[in-house]
Amino acid sequence: MAGKRDYYEVLGVEKNATDDELKKAYRKLAKKYHPDANPDNKKEAEAKFKEVNEAYETLSNPEKRRMYDQFGPDGPQGFGGGAGGQGGYYSYSSSGFDGFGDFGDLGDIFSSFFGGGFGGRTSSRHTGPIKGADLKTSIDITFEEAYLGVEKEISISRNETCNHCHGSGARPGTSPETCTVCRGTGVVKQVQTTILGQMQTQRPCSNCHGTGKVIKEPCEECKGKGTIRKQARIKVKIPAGIDDEQTIVLRKEGEPGERGGPQGDLYIIVRIKRHSIYTRKGDKVFCDIPITFTQATLGAELEIPMVDGTKEKYRIPEGTQTGTKFTIKNKGFKSVNGNYQGDFVFTVQVQVPKRLSKEQRDLLVELAKTMNEQPPVKKRGIFG
Ligand SMILES: [Zn+2]
Ligand SMILES: [Zn+2]
Repeated sequence: MAGKRDYYEVLGVEKNATDDELKKAYRKLAKKYHPDANPDNKKEAEAKFKEVNEAYETLSNPEKRRMYDQFGPDGPQGFGGGAGGQGGYYSYSSSGFDGFGDFGDLGDIFSSFFGGGFGGRTSSRHTGPIKGADLKTSIDITFEEAYLGVEKEISISRNETCNHCHGSGARPGTSPETCTVCRGTGVVKQVQTTILGQMQTQRPCSNCHGTGKVIKEPCEECKGKGTIRKQARIKVKIPAGIDDEQTIVLRKEGEPGERGGPQGDLYIIVRIKRHSIYTRKGDKVFCDIPITFTQATLGAELEIPMVDGTKEKYRIPEGTQTGTKFTIKNKGFKSVNGNYQGDFVFTVQVQVPKRLSKEQRDLLVELAKTMNEQPPVKKRGIFG
């Protein structure tokens, strides 16, 4: 970036300013330009604030300052801006303006500026507790089970804490020892000389694989892993009203955590099998009910089969046309939280008899006569 202001100028200090002078100048300017302190002029303040941060970040680091003095703001490779970046800047900003009057924890601020590479954060990442992995499975249930709710047992393959060594991986009576290579931190620090000066990098310790512990005598059951692969049987309560493809989450039924971390979660996707007569849309149940044409014509009291196996009496009126929908209130699906229940909707389908006895046929002919109707003749087009 060309045209950058001189860092000493930005902070308003002399070229030979001491660390204390830099800190004081930075503190004053950072306060002045902090975006939260300039609500009317946020954009400009933000730019200045970044500039001040960048300048201080460079000049407060002896190696970087030396590079800066030697190469100026544009060389060798714009290191000033690169290290901080947006993330560091915003995570700092979000910690609140008030907190930074004190200035006690510059270290924290800068470890976030430097993406953790310089600070001690990575070491805790290697040896701290880690939540176990989440597991995913699915379960098929029937339409009726979804309607009424059901308790099921599922079987999943997962790692479980070894009972023999209680998860330590060490033979009972012994315990894991602190790794002598990394002294239990799980990471090995390396100092490299780079163009920016001396840089400290960390990598997981290869002696203990980043765990910080070495097992001299492994547990014979789990071979030192601390966990054993098992086929676990788990009870799942599936609430009434659950819909197809909905997921039930069982907390802490996933893989075990590491180093005291919590167990992962188990996600169960519920799949509902198709039903031979019922369908579902949201909280409504739909079905077709066949009726005879005499029922349709005269009206009838029907017995409608509900999903829970009971029957509901429903009176359809005279002259019901095929395809007419009727609603029985509150006989559909419950909401999963049980607050309300949807409706049951049935559609009548008038069945025309394909075979009649002689008696039935004669009756119908008599009926047709009383209706005094010719079969309707469709008019054809004008050329017909
Ligand atoms: Zn074991
Ligand atoms: Zn180690």
